[in-house]
Amino acid sequence: MYEAPEAAINPLNKCLTMEPAVDMNLPEELQLLQKTAREFAESELTKAAREMDEREEFNVDVFKKLASLGLAGLTLPEQYGGAGFYESKLANQAACVVLEEVNRVCASTGVTLSVHMSLFSSALNKWGSEELKGRVLPKVATGEWIGAYCLSEAGAGSDAGSLTCAAKKDGNEYVLNGSKLWITSAPYADVYLVMARTSDSHKTRGISAFIVERSRKGVSIGKHEKKMGIRGSSTCEVLFDNCRIPASNLIGEEGKGFTIALDTLDGGRIGISAQAVGIGRACLEDAIAYAKQREQFGRKIAEFQGVQWMICDMAARIDAARLLMYRAATLRDAGQPCAKEAAMAKLYASEAANKAAKDAVQIFGGNGYSKEYNVERYFRDAKITEIYEGTSQIQRIVVSRALLG
Ligand SMILES: Cc1cc2nc3c(=O)[nH]c(=O)nc-3n(C[C@H](O)[C@H](O)[C@H](O)COP(=O)(O)OP(=O)(O)OC[C@H]3O[C@@H](n4cnc5c(N)ncnc54)[C@H](O)[C@@H]3O)c2cc1C
Repeated sequence: MYEAPEAAINPLNKCLTMEPAVDMNLPEELQLLQKTAREFAESELTKAAREMDEREEFNVDVFKKLASLGLAGLTLPEQYGGAGFYESKLANQAACVVLEEVNRVCASTGVTLSVHMSLFSSALNKWGSEELKGRVLPKVATGEWIGAYCLSEAGAGSDAGSLTCAAKKDGNEYVLNGSKLWITSAPYADVYLVMARTSDSHKTRGISAFIVERSRKGVSIGKHEKKMGIRGSSTCEVLFDNCRIPASNLIGEEGKGFTIALDTLDGGRIGISAQAVGIGRACLEDAIAYAKQREQFGRKIAEFQGVQWMICDMAARIDAARLLMYRAATLRDAGQPCAKEAAMAKLYASEAANKAAKDAVQIFGGNGYSKEYNVERYFRDAKITEIYEGTSQIQRIVVSRALLG
C-alpha cells in the first residue's frame, strides 16, 4: 500500500493556518475589519445558518446585529453612516473582506449583505440626488432599512434589456406597473432599486432606475421561490400595480437605467466572487479538518494522495479566485473600469467554489451526503454563484467581448 511521506502531508497543515489577511497583505484597517467580521460570523451565524437553511426563513435580527457593527454600510461615505472606507478608496475591498467571512459561515446572510451593499447602496450613492441619498442612505447604512435590487423579470434574465415593467410619467410622479422575478430579500427589504421602462422607442436606452419604498401603495410580494440553496434568503416576485412614486425617486437621468444596472453589477459581481471565495474556503477548511481525523485502511485519509490532491487543488483555486477578486475590487475602488476583471473574478471564483464543494462532499464520503455536516449545504449554496448576477456563460461573453472587441 502507498505510504505518503511526511513531506507530502505537511503542506496540508499550512492550509489550516492560512490567514488570508496576512497572505493578501491587506492594510491594517482591513485586517481589523476582517477580525471583527470573522468573530461575528463564527459566534452569531454558525447556528443561525443551519436554522435558516432548514426553516427556509431569513433571520432579520441577526442581520440587524451585523449592521449595528457598521458592517452593512461599508460602501458608503461617512456623511451617510459609512465607516471611512469609501473616503480611503477601500470600500469595495472592505466589502470583500466582510463578505468572504460572512459567506464562509452563512451564504444566505452573505447574499443579503452583498445585494444590500454592492447593488443597492452603491448604486444609490453613485447615481442618486443629494436629497434622495440623505433620505434613504443613513437608514440603509445602519441596517434600519434593507435594500434590494429589481432587474430580472419572467421574460428578461440574461437578456435584462428586454424588461417590460413600465414607469409612466404623470406630472411630478411616475406610475409603475409590472412585475419583477427572483428578487433577493424582497419580503423583508424596505427599499428597492427598480429598473423600469420609460420609453419603448429604444430597448436599453428606454430603461430608467428608481428607488421604490416597499411601504408604497401598489407594491406587493408575489410567489416565494422554494430553492435548492441559499434557502435562508427569500427570493420572491415583486408586483407593481399602479404604484405612484415621486419623480425625485428617479436615479441618474431618464434612459440611463440600463447603464446604471450594468455598472452596479460590476460591483455586485465582485461581491458574488467574495461569496464564492467564502464558500470555497469553508469547503477547504472543513475538508482538511475531516481528512485529518477520519481513518480508513489504518491511517488518516489525509495521508492518501487522492485526497491530498483534491485539497491542494481546492486551495490553489480559492487563492487564485481571491487574487482575482481583490484585483477587481482595487480597480473599482480606484474608479477605474473593471467590467472584465469583475466578470473574470465572478466566473473563476464561482467555478472554484463549485469544484471545492463537490470535492469536499467527496472527501466526507457518505457523511458528505448527510445534512449532519455542513458540506452538504455548501454544495447546494455554491451552485447559485454560477447563476445570479449573470450566469457563467454571460461572464464569458463579457470577458471575450473585452478581449476580442
Ligand atoms: C436565488 C436567485 C436570486 C436572484 N436574485 C436576484 C435579484 O436580487 N435581483 C434580480 O434582478 N435578479 C435576481 N436573480 C435573477 C438572476 O440574475 C437570473 O436568474 C440570471 O441572470 C439568469 O437569468 P434566467 O434565470 O432568466 O436564465 P436565462 O437567461 O433564461 O438563461 C438560461 C440559460 O441560457 C444561457 N444563456 C442565455 N443567454 C445566453 C447567451 N447569449 N449565450 C450563451 N448562453 C446563454 C444561460 O447562461 C443559462 O445557462 C436571482 C436568481 C436566483 C436563482
